[in-house]
Amino acid sequence: MSQLPSRRAMLRTAATAAGAVVVGFDPIGRTWAAAATAADRADGTLVGLPHLDGTLLTDDASLGAAADDFGHIVHRTPVAVLRPGSVDDVVAMVRFCNRHGLKAAPRGQGHGTSGQAQVDGGLVVETTPLARIGPVGPRSRTVTVGAGAKWSDVTRATLAHGLTPPVFTDYLELSVGGTLSVGGLGGQSHHHGAQVDNVTELQVVTGAGELVRCSPSRHRDLFEAVLAGLGQCAVIVSATLRLVKAPTTVRHYLLPYHDLGTFLADQRLLVTDGRFGYVEGQVVPDADGAFRGYVLEAVSYDAAPDDAALLAGLHHDAAGVQTEDLGYFDFLDRLAASVAALKAAGLWDFAHPWLNLLIPGEKAAEVAGGILDALTPADLGPGVVLLYPLLRERLHRPLLRTGQDPVPYLLAVLRTTPPQDTATVDRLLAANRTAFEATRAAGGTQYPVGSIPFGRADWRVHFGSAWPALAAARRRYDPRGILVPGQGIF
Ligand SMILES: Cc1cc2nc3c(=O)[nH]c(=O)nc-3n(C[C@H](O)[C@H](O)[C@H](O)COP(=O)(O)OP(=O)(O)OC[C@H]3O[C@@H](n4cnc5c(N)ncnc54)[C@H](O)[C@@H]3O)c2cc1C
Repeated sequence: MSQLPSRRAMLRTAATAAGAVVVGFDPIGRTWAAAATAADRADGTLVGLPHLDGTLLTDDASLGAAADDFGHIVHRTPVAVLRPGSVDDVVAMVRFCNRHGLKAAPRGQGHGTSGQAQVDGGLVVETTPLARIGPVGPRSRTVTVGAGAKWSDVTRATLAHGLTPPVFTDYLELSVGGTLSVGGLGGQSHHHGAQVDNVTELQVVTGAGELVRCSPSRHRDLFEAVLAGLGQCAVIVSATLRLVKAPTTVRHYLLPYHDLGTFLADQRLLVTDGRFGYVEGQVVPDADGAFRGYVLEAVSYDAAPDDAALLAGLHHDAAGVQTEDLGYFDFLDRLAASVAALKAAGLWDFAHPWLNLLIPGEKAAEVAGGILDALTPADLGPGVVLLYPLLRERLHRPLLRTGQDPVPYLLAVLRTTPPQDTATVDRLLAANRTAFEATRAAGGTQYPVGSIPFGRADWRVHFGSAWPALAAARRRYDPRGILVPGQGIF
């Protein structure tokens, strides 16, 4: 049954409450009331808000921002945005939503690409204020951070102690809660798994509004339902992260290839023998616009890297090798300059109908090759194509689905296209679906951060053997099913 307020009610909300302090909620009209309106309502139909340390925002600008994300494709307007002043605020408002049948979703940096953190007619919970970091435990080699902390800030704090989280996404300005809800994959994953494999404890607010600590030894079902759980059972409010000793400098290698099979085989060799600390790769168009150029990106964390030993047995084009020594943080933060340039050029505000697939290694040449053959530079725009392998034996969280192959390859076609050209966006979304179906038919799946049209039946197949546990955790921890409708799973 729909819980959505009418469009008229939503417009009324925005108009009356813009800039005013919200003091009550009308559960029948599904509107918030500002102080002035509330004074007129002596009929007792208004429900008082819980005490909040932070703010409940209903102004147009806040609602508009929460109705958008990095994809700029899907727009669902909430009725309010919580900017919490404390974890208690999250508890109070999730309970409130639970009681009144309002949907709710946490939002970190809003870098999903298809409305994952949006809530039509419900509550968006900003996690950015929950950004406390530390203290860093040099002995325990852990740090506890607020879910809204960005990985860039977490890393700066831990590096002050010579320690680092072991796995990074390519872009550091994502929230800890946001990446832990999807998985968090990067070039270090063949050594350390995903970011979700490097969490020792979580503090969460369940969909029923209970504040719970969970870990592998405490409420394990909840711990496993939250990590890579796409927000379906609880809001992460803090996470305790495993740390390792940080290198100070790294050597970065770019190795060109002209043949997909050779590129994939060398990548597989490197993630299997583990000689590099980081392995990724890109596919680039040739002079004719065909995606037939391959660049293997590898990084050595060794203090004194031996180029000859590190490159032994590889089949790249030796003439085009590039190496560079970088400070460790500069390497992790390597996208910062290009993101600044994209923002300056207005391209960050373009639509991002991203395609993120996990293709079985055995079929990677055939499936990725087919998808790349169909790709044109125009349909990629100023985005990039990433292609690199993971090791399944390092991935231990049940909800991060990768298929059965021991070496799944992540193929990320990071399309960037003008948002106003909706016909092109729709065509690219349809192309994403076609590519996904080829991947699924080969035993692969999607990495759910992109924009693939996906229905409830698809999600059941996606979660496969993990579906019964996820569904049970949802019934237990979010019995009214209020959390994160934007994923479209339940
Ligand atoms: C430029 C860029 C580079 C990227 N690179 C990588 C990469 O290298 N590797 C990789 O794995 N991913 C990568 N991603 C994808 C990224 O990890 C996900 O989109 C991630 O969810 C974004 O984090 P966020 O803080 O913006 O989350 P949001 O977009 O705010 O939220 C994403 C989802 O998580 C839920 N959520 C957010 N916070 C919480 C919380 N505290 N508790 C429970 N659920 C929550 C939301 O409701 C929503 O459903 C990249 C994305 C971008 C835009």
